Amino acid sequence: MSCTTMTTTITISQRHPSSPFSRRTTAAVDAGRLVLKSAVRKTPPPLLDIPLDIVFEIFSLVQPIDLLQLARTNKTLRWYLMNRSSAPIWAASCHQVEDLPACPKHLSYPQYINLAFDHHCQTCLEPQAKDVIWTFWARHCKNCWKNILTDDEMRDEFDGGIAKGMLPEAFHHTDVIDTPRMLRYRPNVEKFRISLNNATDDEIRQACIANAQEQTMTMNHDATICQKWYQGFEWTRFLQFAKERYGKKETDTAISR
Ligand SMILES: [Zn+2]
Repeated sequence: MSCTTMTTTITISQRHPSSPFSRRTTAAVDAGRLVLKSAVRKTPPPLLDIPLDIVFEIFSLVQPIDLLQLARTNKTLRWYLMNRSSAPIWAASCHQVEDLPACPKHLSYPQYINLAFDHHCQTCLEPQAKDVIWTFWARHCKNCWKNILTDDEMRDEFDGGIAKGMLPEAFHHTDVIDTPRMLRYRPNVEKFRISLNNATDDEIRQACIANAQEQTMTMNHDATICQKWYQGFEWTRFLQFAKERYGKKETDTAISR
């Protein structure tokens, strides 16, 4: 990893008495070392005053979801891990998860890991949101899915409604739309609608449509791969849970029935 001296510093505030940081602390990458400079404590905490290549090695061994939690711990780690130059750390961490598909181009590593491993609803933060619809690259609780899926066919923008393939769609239903049918993700529809409304001539409009079709095709392709991996991952995780709770023999017997 290339290490350059940076002049950027950030200030963090202590939120918890057990935090290793002083009340007002600045962090900077200085001569290739991640260093905390404390207004109160003269000597940086030894854990973080270590060469970046060692930090890289340590963080690369952390499971992706733990790395994400680490990045959320405080501003220093967030600043370091969310920096684009830290992408190899995330990549190495993801490499530990068996058969995890490569990070799709339209997502950052933290976004991808959040979607795959974090069970919080991306709208209301409900902690047991199990439903990921990979076609829409989103995880929500049942209530939020109900509000965020739509059968809007954009008939104001397209005679006869939007054509297949312009936006991602999934055969689904909600508590509001109880008959399973092709639904779209409301943020996608609204974003596409704004793009079309902002098109000042037909050439720009056609380019906007072509771009949407290309993006949809790529995202659908990646979604199929991720969906297949996720089903296997969730099944494996369920089996581990069942064996820990009920024992290997009982679990194997139940599965074989
Ligand atoms: Zn929710």
